[in-house]
Amino acid sequence: MSKIAVIYCKRIKDHSCVACAKCYKGMAEKNGEFAKHDEIELVAMTDCGDCPGLVVPRVKQLSEVTKNLAREIETIHLGTCVKLAMETAACPIDFDELKITLEKKFGVDVMLGTHSY
Ligand code: SF4
Ligand code: SF4
Repeated sequence: MSKIAVIYCKRIKDHSCVACAKCYKGMAEKNGEFAKHDEIELVAMTDCGDCPGLVVPRVKQLSEVTKNLAREIETIHLGTCVKLAMETAACPIDFDELKITLEKKFGVDVMLGTHSY
């Protein structure tokens, strides 16, 4: 069972994917990047902290909250919305750099993308 959190683009959520229904479907069907897990337990979904790239303090808060609840996150997925923002909307996140930082600071795996729809 993988305990995961999904981080969505604060600017795109509810515009490109209403109510995150696509990620919930993707998890249920193990579609896209979710296929890398045998079983998924969704621990949290939250935004990226907003531009200009405030993901690290956001994940720090997230990490503290989930630890206090005894539901520590093993894997963080940056949603497909974040991937699209990086590719088409000048999102300032540098995924390779962020992955190293989050893995080192918080001991989590970090994946780019969620569903493929
Ligand atoms: S890609 Fe996933 S996390 Fe991002 S807005 Fe769509 S459903 Fe939500
Ligand atoms: S463009 Fe990037 S930094 Fe800005 S809100 Fe979206 S994911 Fe977050």
